[in-house]
Amino acid sequence: MSARARACRNCKKIVVGNSCDNCGSTDLAVNYSGLLIVLDPEKSRIAKELGITKPGHYAVKID
Ligand SMILES: [Zn+2]
Repeated sequence: MSARARACRNCKKIVVGNSCDNCGSTDLAVNYSGLLIVLDPEKSRIAKELGITKPGHYAVKID
């Protein structure tokens, strides 16, 4: 139906495709857990703790 989402090991972003649209890394993990949806990184404390600076979907933990 749709391409499987994977998590970027470099920046934790959830991506669909062969490379991360956030940092350009091709090191993508199929196995990840947790989903963090960041709408406004400036106002999100957890986003700052994880070093997230752009809105998007992120994995909390990558295996
Ligand atoms: Zn990335």
